[in-house]
Amino acid sequence: KRVVKTKDREYKASAIIVASGTQPRKLGILGEDRLLGKGVSYCATCDGPLFKGQDIVVVGGGDSAVEEVLSLTKFAKKVTLIHRRERLRATRILQERALANEKIEFVWDSVVTEILGKEGVDGIRVKNKKTEEEKEIPCTGVFVSIGIVPATKFLRGLVDMDKEGYIPTDENMKTSVDGVYACGDCRKKLLRQIITACGEGALAAFAATKYVEELKGMAYPGNSDR
Ligand SMILES: Cc1cc2nc3c(=O)[nH]c(=O)nc-3n(C[C@H](O)[C@H](O)[C@H](O)COP(=O)(O)OP(=O)(O)OC[C@H]3O[C@@H](n4cnc5c(N)ncnc54)[C@H](O)[C@@H]3O)c2cc1C
Repeated sequence: KRVVKTKDREYKASAIIVASGTQPRKLGILGEDRLLGKGVSYCATCDGPLFKGQDIVVVGGGDSAVEEVLSLTKFAKKVTLIHRRERLRATRILQERALANEKIEFVWDSVVTEILGKEGVDGIRVKNKKTEEEKEIPCTGVFVSIGIVPATKFLRGLVDMDKEGYIPTDENMKTSVDGVYACGDCRKKLLRQIITACGEGALAAFAATKYVEELKGMAYPGNSDR
């Protein structure tokens, strides 16, 4: 049997399904962890309404960053988008909507080097990558939207992963290790959505059950799902 250790106890199981999903990629800069929940957020849909009438910064330049910016304009007084390149990576329609929105200001070729504030966010420090010039931008909210990383650190060295940490499986969600299955966003795949995660969860559960039945000599011959 395999053992899963949690903070409180250990679980022994013949099969394990990993469905640990992803986490937002962090900037890894000063102030980010300290001010999390005090102005720093990774989800505009969740926290946007808390910033009504305020000046907000969004960091990123892909589809999700631009979607976040556009949704935040419903609440914020002004939204500044900080992007490390000179143009957006987002799809054209999103770019056009963002560029035409008067509430959105763009800061190109720049990276955020620090999030400022004591009890809550009161600004950011940005550095222009071309000119090396640094400046501070006052704001009360910082939304970080620079991608996601798989939450699979705890499995490193136990199952095969790609270089980003996503877990490859076969078509029945089996990982490189017998009895260990992976499904949902932590799996190596093209589309990370609820509908794909649910289907894979069902498949992983079915395959894991079959695996345990086979171990116990309880499986019916053949490959039927009925
Ligand atoms: C902002 C945002 C908006 C989205 N909008 C849509 C949308 O409109 N439509 C759509 O289809 N999809 C959307 N998605 C994608 C969708 O949320 C995911 O595809 C789906 O939630 C994946 O499900 P999952 O179970 O694989 O992972 P998750 O839903 O991420 O669940 C993983 C769970 O595992 C837990 N976990 C992680 N590590 C550990 C550990 N070591 N021990 C114990 N527990 C752990 C986490 O806390 C979490 O509860 C969105 C995602 C984001 C971030």
